Amino acid sequence: MQSFLEKIAAEVRPRAAEGTPAQYIPALARVDPTKFAIALMTAEGEEFVTGDADTPFSVQSISKLFTLALAMEWVGAPLWERVKREPSGMRFNSIIQLETENGVPRNPFINAGAIVVTDALMHNRPTIEVGFRNQMRLLARDETICYDEEVHRSEMLTGDMNRAAAFLLKAKGNLTEDAILVTNAYFHFCSLAMSARQLARAALFLIKPQHGDAACARGLHAQRLRAIMRTCGLYDQSGEFAYHVGMPAKSGVGGGILAVNPTMGYAVCAWSPPLDRYGNSIAATEALALLAAKTGV
Ligand code: GLU
Repeated sequence: MQSFLEKIAAEVRPRAAEGTPAQYIPALARVDPTKFAIALMTAEGEEFVTGDADTPFSVQSISKLFTLALAMEWVGAPLWERVKREPSGMRFNSIIQLETENGVPRNPFINAGAIVVTDALMHNRPTIEVGFRNQMRLLARDETICYDEEVHRSEMLTGDMNRAAAFLLKAKGNLTEDAILVTNAYFHFCSLAMSARQLARAALFLIKPQHGDAACARGLHAQRLRAIMRTCGLYDQSGEFAYHVGMPAKSGVGGGILAVNPTMGYAVCAWSPPLDRYGNSIAATEALALLAAKTGV
């Protein structure tokens, strides 16, 4: 496996030149575009990594997978009265469907849906940002995981589309907390900095549910989370990714893609900052496609 990951890295790294890192968040636009990592963890506990696998990067929308896992555990069924489970076919930050579909976002992985999830998590939990970070430390078994405050500030300065979504949700009666406080917490979740190794470790609960201390690792929901990853995990390219790669996954505009292969028993994170026009990492997508073709899914 180790030499295969190195072969994949050599093959796909040049593809990064076809894209650019996310420009609309200034702190992400400054990230070195040549960074690249793959980290693969097996259910048996083996770890294989190549490239910059211990360099923390901005998890961005990958956080939506973990906030959803927490909300399924902490909020339960009432969550699904506030957010649907359908692909949106729209850009990740689109607010069009909020207007036409009465303030109920299509799924928890587009921004509007994740803002609803954040609102649900915040309710009666004033320290949710610390709570979420601690859950991620537990899942990844790593106490060093922190928010990147520069990325957080950068998103606060440029996050008007997300504030627009939050105010629309509020106007439609689908936000209980203050819209500005909810988006600030949402920006914090997105600004969490984790390495490919830490993310792959944190995702193992999706193939091997455990009764550990981390709430989102307490297993009932893994199969359902994988279903939503499969149908909605790659923005409006989710169908294409399912066809091309075939693993349930979640991408983020920091250039990471976190995927799981329950059949073959591994979790894998690939990272390369340059994105395609949908906001997905070009080289990370290709790395996962080669891996899936080799191992089967
Ligand atoms: N924080 C980013 C935003 O809200 C997340 C986008 C993403 O990774 O999809 O625009």
